[in-house]
Amino acid sequence: MPILSTMTLVFGLFQTIFVAGWLTIGALQRRIAGVGSAAYVFFGFLMALWSIGELLVMVAHEPEGVLIARRTFFFAAAFLPPTWFWLATRAAKPRWSNKNPKRVAYAFITPAFFYSCLYWDSAGNFVHWTAMPPVAGPWFDLYTIYQYGICVAGAAYCIQAGSRLGRSDLRTLASIAFGVALPITANLFYYLDVMEQDWTAVALGPAAVLVWVAALHSGVASSVPIDRESVIDQLDVGVIVADPGGRIVSANPAAERLADVGSLRGMLLPEAVAAAEQRPEMMIESRAIALTNRLGVTGHALILSDRTDAEAARRRLEIGGRLEALGSLTAGIAHEVNNPLAFIQANLSALEGTAKELSDKEFRRTLPEPLQESVAEMAALVEETQEGVERIRSLVQRLKTFARTPDVHATAVEVDLDRALRQAAAIATIGQPGHPIDIQSVGGLRVISSETAVFQILVNLLLNAVQAAPDRPSVHVLVRAEGAGVEVLVEDEGPGIAKALLPRIFDPFFTTKSTGTGLGLSLSYDLAEQLGGSLSAGNREGGGACFSLWLPSNPPMMGAEESCVASPRAQGVADMA
Ligand code: ADP
Repeated sequence: MPILSTMTLVFGLFQTIFVAGWLTIGALQRRIAGVGSAAYVFFGFLMALWSIGELLVMVAHEPEGVLIARRTFFFAAAFLPPTWFWLATRAAKPRWSNKNPKRVAYAFITPAFFYSCLYWDSAGNFVHWTAMPPVAGPWFDLYTIYQYGICVAGAAYCIQAGSRLGRSDLRTLASIAFGVALPITANLFYYLDVMEQDWTAVALGPAAVLVWVAALHSGVASSVPIDRESVIDQLDVGVIVADPGGRIVSANPAAERLADVGSLRGMLLPEAVAAAEQRPEMMIESRAIALTNRLGVTGHALILSDRTDAEAARRRLEIGGRLEALGSLTAGIAHEVNNPLAFIQANLSALEGTAKELSDKEFRRTLPEPLQESVAEMAALVEETQEGVERIRSLVQRLKTFARTPDVHATAVEVDLDRALRQAAAIATIGQPGHPIDIQSVGGLRVISSETAVFQILVNLLLNAVQAAPDRPSVHVLVRAEGAGVEVLVEDEGPGIAKALLPRIFDPFFTTKSTGTGLGLSLSYDLAEQLGGSLSAGNREGGGACFSLWLPSNPPMMGAEESCVASPRAQGVADMA
């Protein structure tokens, strides 16, 4: 062999050993999509072994040394194709391997048989290895055809996996095919005596680099370090990675759970965002990040976080804050209005007496004519004014009730919820025919609470439910034990609450009714919190609104605000809303 060819061969073999080492070390640090690192480590080991075996053959002189060298490189040559097949099937996951991934082991049986010939086939059916150059026997063709076949099948699976992910272009897929064809061609040339020297091991180095880069680019392999990837897998925040075209390459389990559309791989990013954001029962926030390196944008990442609980807590705090501010404001207004109202009422009473006296017919006749008419209207005017003042007084009274923070614990008694519900239902259904409120209860559920406050909340909820569907005022109430307390579910068959209005219905003065005050729910919400419980609203699946009132069996020892946060129903608000 000419010296230049020998030097090129040696350099080529060392280059393959270097690539094999690089692949093996990389595989130990990274997890390959769908494939454990073991197959890659074995692949790298075999590549290096083949080259080492070739180098040993070059330096071996004695027949024994030649045999050892050939056994070494032939071990690699025999098992490298099935290992490649193993890698490719684990990435492509064909149906036959899905059922039992261990079936791929059958691919190793044929090469293992031929490799064993090196130890017992003295007749040279396979190869006379000690001959220089080795002389192939009749079985060698069978072996070669099998190995080529398995390499091509592996390439087909790898290309299938790449194209299924949808992010690879034709060039990437062609690189995989070319990478596999490179060592096969080198081997074929040697096998058909086109070339005197076997360059297969030399071709393995560039071939492996080409296939690896194409596999990374197509998404068949991932280059995320294993420790970082396992952290990402365990996060409860969804992490999705997509290629520059927006096609999803990988998604952690949290992302699949939050998007809830099965496998995200291969989908487009906007589809995943829409799926997550449109989930009715959850509030999912998405944030996109452009992934860049020195060359520019290499892909996109999408972070999905479940904000349902945080949003419910924020809403509760916001409502609490607004109620508090409104409480002080209304208390001030009520106080200021009350004083002038008192003397207006007193003056009106005095005027009423005078008007009565003036309206006497005999007395009126003594007055000039234009005055007679005015005096006749005076009594009616005073009466109307008194009615108006009375309405202002009752409004001020309601505002005072709203502003007052009653010590609900001081008045705590044992409240029989069934009885309270029956009484509240009787009030809420005044003027309604039949008995439209259906109460289901296990019976005997009681809470230590303020009876007036509980009653007020129940009346408000039932009244709203009855008003929600005046034509079909069928209301279902369920009373059940829940956690350390009792839950009262009030469901109606009305139109339900529009999603956009849900965050506002507990706001003071929020109403959609022409004659509503918008105080019922905000007052009830406030009272429920003061009782250490909670009130939440949502919509039933079949239509209609659903309100859940949860009250602790015993009055909480802590402040109302703290107990509200610790309340097991805090979750319920999110679930229902
Ligand atoms: P009001 O009944 O005076 O309007 P509330 O505070 O009791 O005041 O209710 C506020 C708003 O919440 C109502 O105007 C209505 O839009 C909505 N709401 C309350 N209960 C229901 C229900 N059962 N179904 C549909 N919407 C409801």
